[in-house]
Amino acid sequence: MRRLRRIRPAEQKRAIKLATLRDCGRRCVYCAQPLEYARATLDHVHPLAKGGAHTPGNVVAACPPCNRLKADMLPVEFFMRYPWAGSNFIHHARAVHRALKRQARRAVSLAFAALQAAA
Ligand SMILES: [Zn+2]
Repeated sequence: MRRLRRIRPAEQKRAIKLATLRDCGRRCVYCAQPLEYARATLDHVHPLAKGGAHTPGNVVAACPPCNRLKADMLPVEFFMRYPWAGSNFIHHARAVHRALKRQARRAVSLAFAALQAAA
């Protein structure tokens, strides 16, 4: 079998960022603002610090302020606290694992139910 050309880590990083940005519709998945390559950051939906994986189904494009806001929160904590981020995530994070989307939908409906109960 023919050996594939070795891909340099920097090229690989760039390719992952480009693909992630494309999968997220060139938007921050949390605030839904358009995002260009230079400003985009990669966010691990389930944080690496809490056992999340560095795999395409767990990586999304986020703007720097949203990435800082989410920090090391689990997706459920983050979406319960900021349901607008959860709603945007459900619409724009098209390539993430279905389990993450299911969690997001549940967190958002719980958060909105809690808001209604408080009103
Ligand atoms: Zn954002």
